[in-house]
Amino acid sequence: MYAATPKIIMAISHGDKRVRKDRIRYNDRWNEDKTIYYYHGSGDKADQDPEDAVRGNRQLRDSIYNGTPVFLFIESENNMYELIGEVKVISEPTYELNPDTGFKRLVFPLALYDGFSPVVDDIDIKVKKISNISNEKLIREASKEKTPKLTKTSTYQYSRDEYVRLYALRRAGDNCQLCLQKAPFSRSDGSPYLEVHHIVPLSQGGSDSIDNVCALCPNCHRKMHIIADSDDVSKLLKTAEKRL
Ligand SMILES: [Zn+2]
Ligand SMILES: [Zn+2]
Repeated sequence: MYAATPKIIMAISHGDKRVRKDRIRYNDRWNEDKTIYYYHGSGDKADQDPEDAVRGNRQLRDSIYNGTPVFLFIESENNMYELIGEVKVISEPTYELNPDTGFKRLVFPLALYDGFSPVVDDIDIKVKKISNISNEKLIREASKEKTPKLTKTSTYQYSRDEYVRLYALRRAGDNCQLCLQKAPFSRSDGSPYLEVHHIVPLSQGGSDSIDNVCALCPNCHRKMHIIADSDDVSKLLKTAEKRL
C-alpha cells in the first residue's frame, strides 16, 4: 500500500510546542549553531518504529539511502508553517523517551542542504554501515562486477543574481578571500577561477547581496561547506564589507 518511494517528503514540525489537543510536547529543536534540527518521528500511541511506513517514519529514514528530497516546515507562533528549506537526514534516527507518553520516540537529525554538498554524503553513511566487514569479504564484494546505476536526483536551488556574483568576483580579483592565495588556475578565457560563496547560506536566511558573498578557491569553498568554522565566517563577513 505504501510501498512506493515518495517523490518528496515534507517534514512538518510543531517546533517545541505543546499541541492543545493532546498536550504532547513535540520538543523538536535546533542544535546550538542552528545547523542541525532534531525532528521527532510520528506516532505517540506506542513506541515509534523506524519501519513504520504508514506514519512516514520509514520513508524519512530511507531518504538517507535513496536521496528523496526532504523539505522541513516549522510551525510558527501564528500557527503558520514556514518552509525552512531542503534538508538531509544525516544519520539513522536515535531513540529518546517522550516524557508525556512514556513511549520511545525517534529523533531524526536533519541538516540544511543547499544543493552544494550534503553535510554527510550518502556514500559515507553506507561505508560506515559496512565498516566492520572482514578483508576477505571486502575483497570479494569490491571485486564483483558493478553496473553503474543511474539515479535521478533533483535539487532545488535558490536563484542567484548575476550582478552580485560578478561584483563578488571583481572585488576578489585574483585571490581567494580566505587563504589569500592566487586562484589555482584560470578559466579558458583567462579569468582567475574562483567560486562565489554565500557566507550565511541562503537556506539559512542569508541574503543574495554583496554583503553576504565572497569569492573562494575550490579548496576553501569546500572547507566552508564542510566545517564552516566561525572564525572563517567572521573573517569573510568582514571581507564582504569592502566596496569596489
Ligand atoms: Zn582559498
Ligand atoms: Zn558556497
